[in-house]
Amino acid sequence: MFINNLLNKKTRILLFLFTILNSSLSYAEEANQIIDKGEIVMQEIQDGAVILLFHSFGDDNQPDINIGTEQLDNLINYIKNNNFNVIPLAQAVEIIQNGGKLPNKSVVITIDDAFKSVYTVAYPKFKQAGFPFTLFVSSGKVNDNNSAYLNWNEIIEMASNGVDIQAHTVNHSHMTKKEIKENHNEIDSNINDIIKNTNIKPIYFAYPYGEANQEIIEMVKSKNIVAGFSQHSGVYNNTSDQYYIPRFPINEKWGTLERLKLILNTKPFKIKSITPNTPYIKDNNPPNISVVVDDSIDDMSQLNCFRSDTGKVSLEKSDKSFQMVFTTPFKTGRTRINCTIPNKDGTYKWLGLMFTNDK
Ligand SMILES: [Zn+2]
Repeated sequence: MFINNLLNKKTRILLFLFTILNSSLSYAEEANQIIDKGEIVMQEIQDGAVILLFHSFGDDNQPDINIGTEQLDNLINYIKNNNFNVIPLAQAVEIIQNGGKLPNKSVVITIDDAFKSVYTVAYPKFKQAGFPFTLFVSSGKVNDNNSAYLNWNEIIEMASNGVDIQAHTVNHSHMTKKEIKENHNEIDSNINDIIKNTNIKPIYFAYPYGEANQEIIEMVKSKNIVAGFSQHSGVYNNTSDQYYIPRFPINEKWGTLERLKLILNTKPFKIKSITPNTPYIKDNNPPNISVVVDDSIDDMSQLNCFRSDTGKVSLEKSDKSFQMVFTTPFKTGRTRINCTIPNKDGTYKWLGLMFTNDK
């Protein structure tokens, strides 16, 4: 019985790849259709999607935002050989926001900025693997024909083959340090650049550096954007802030196969509420962070939280909530907090938070 299932699954995946390679449809459309038909959907259903965030590929000059080509190959092979379903971002957002069910082991690939290596390294590999992906384009360098970045012809070619093109400002500035008028222009002009060159109207927005405050989030909402994306860890689920959605940043340091296995197998950490409900430190430094967890979390005894600059956070736990106790203020720049609860099968529930402090 088990062997039968295994063979069937392998046959289905081979058929799936064969169909992709021989289709006149874009591979993303094909992936969508086949997922819709249910041919590769496993019986288990998951209620969250692991979103990976990349920047550049095979470019050793910027290790903080780069992943090596061998690391990328290892990642692609691991995803392919372990029954993950790489789904388009739109499928994840639509299902999570509308209360549907995701394919089991859903993974979403996103790439920010528009470096040249997206076209020269990542696109051919993802295309061959049949993995759809979203590119959040920062359009200033593209408009300038900067050779380290994509040009519009390359973006158009990828878009016509199913790559999803979304918004990421024109100049990639630290938005929390800018005037409101300037931020409006950063978003509006970026959306106009993308529409003008590709005929695609972006509906998703990625905050540069993942930095935002409440005013910027409200601004993004006001522009017919349906989801906003940050750069902190965690599994996207229906209790995530839909305008500050977590993505796992992948680079040379955080792109080892061991860590990627951990990330890809992570489960949603569902919450009911979090206070303060803003990713920005204003007068409240250090903030009093308290979290009310979802009913699906019934044992918090092994809950642990770590702060990026100071390490383990002391927690005051009660049955369905916990508070973080900080003794030192958050430093200038970005501070991340990662909270995890181990599951019995060796995986983790993972809640990531990120705060920006400009003072
Ligand atoms: Zn960026």
